[in-house]
Amino acid sequence: MTPAERCSWCGERVEADDGFRAYEPAGERRAAFCRLEHVIPWTIQGAHWEAGGLAEPPDIDSRPLRCSHCDAELGEVHVLLVRHRGEHRVGDDFCSVDHLNEWAKEGGRWR
Ligand SMILES: [Zn+2]
Ligand SMILES: [Zn+2]
Repeated sequence: MTPAERCSWCGERVEADDGFRAYEPAGERRAAFCRLEHVIPWTIQGAHWEAGGLAEPPDIDSRPLRCSHCDAELGEVHVLLVRHRGEHRVGDDFCSVDHLNEWAKEGGRWR
């Protein structure tokens, strides 16, 4: 079983079947969030990543990847956000941390 993680912004516990995980796969970097709103201050403060690879990939890995905010086609360097919801892992990809921030501000895919 995966141990509970801490939110990269507020330090709250993030259970394995809940919250959000952000990854920069090309840089082997990751972060965890208890809720989507905490992505926003984290990106504004300069996105402090932790070292680590992609632990739980999204259920659907669509190629080619496109930014969920601006629809740009993405290469190897991109940011991935995975929502953990029970058994489900819902992924969204972004061209940059900035666009992850913009998307989160608009409420993500559940606006
Ligand atoms: Zn938090
Ligand atoms: Zn974008």
